[in-house]
Amino acid sequence: MPLTNAQYDEIGRIYSRRQQRDLEDQQQRIRRAYEQVPGLKEIEEKITDLTCERGRAMLAGQKNEAERTAGELLNLRASKKKMLADAGLAADELEIRYECPDCRDTGYVGGEICHCRKKAVMDLLYKQSTIGDALQRENFRTFRFDVFDKEKRDPQTGRTGYETMQEYVRICRDFIDGFPGQADNLLFTGQAGTGKTFLSHCIAEELIRRCFSVLYLPAPKLFERLADSTFRRDGSGMEDADDVMTCDLLIIDDLGTELANSFTSSPLFTCINERILGKRPTLISTNLSMNEMAGFYTDRITSRLMGSYRILRFPDRDIRVYLRFGENGK
Ligand SMILES: [Zn+2]
Repeated sequence: MPLTNAQYDEIGRIYSRRQQRDLEDQQQRIRRAYEQVPGLKEIEEKITDLTCERGRAMLAGQKNEAERTAGELLNLRASKKKMLADAGLAADELEIRYECPDCRDTGYVGGEICHCRKKAVMDLLYKQSTIGDALQRENFRTFRFDVFDKEKRDPQTGRTGYETMQEYVRICRDFIDGFPGQADNLLFTGQAGTGKTFLSHCIAEELIRRCFSVLYLPAPKLFERLADSTFRRDGSGMEDADDVMTCDLLIIDDLGTELANSFTSSPLFTCINERILGKRPTLISTNLSMNEMAGFYTDRITSRLMGSYRILRFPDRDIRVYLRFGENGK
């Protein structure tokens, strides 16, 4: 579960806040209980004093004294319990109540990462992926094969849309299982409304559930970020660019739509290339054909894409596919 430094710090802050809140909550309950139950404060103080005395007696080997204080402590605790119960308060009213009792809100149990920390990381990754909402709707559990044509065969591949998509979903699942370290890069190409974005959401959702960091950026946003980090002198853009380079999976959606703006393709090459060198997969989707791409981008970009990306050409859409994936779904 490799997190960027910024993400690691954010998780640390989440746990500090949680611990702080636990303490404040306990202090508040104690104050209220002391006000409500006469004598409770005194009995608590006695218990604290006696616990110290008992500790000292045990250290000094004074067996009788240790036994006497232990007996007295039992009585005091019983009285305290009764006082709380009589006042209608819970037996643990004065104790810390942890959000996760398993790790006492530290995030670790016996040196291992607690389930709650895994969840916290996942929540953070969802939030930062910028497509958290879409992923609830578009994932492998909601993906439907039955919208794809089972009869018409593509003249080039000889396969139906249905067969092709079954194979592509298998490839995507292998891609996911390749994390960390063994996954290729993927390039989805095909018309708008053929399910490219939907399938990239499926991959994002599954990887985030496995606690990998996924950054999803429409191409124009990616170029904005890359330009920002190049030109900002104060370094404040660096954290953004750092995520682009270091997240486990970068998804660049709709490559080609940035072409309306003037841009230089060199930051794109740097980004693609650095991620390949760092063995961090990238998933690109585009409505451009490979020929069109060759016309729009420099040779070194297209040859990088041809050489290091697995290219999946989505079957041309028909009306059912379009209704499912068009407009909202792409
Ligand atoms: Zn926990």
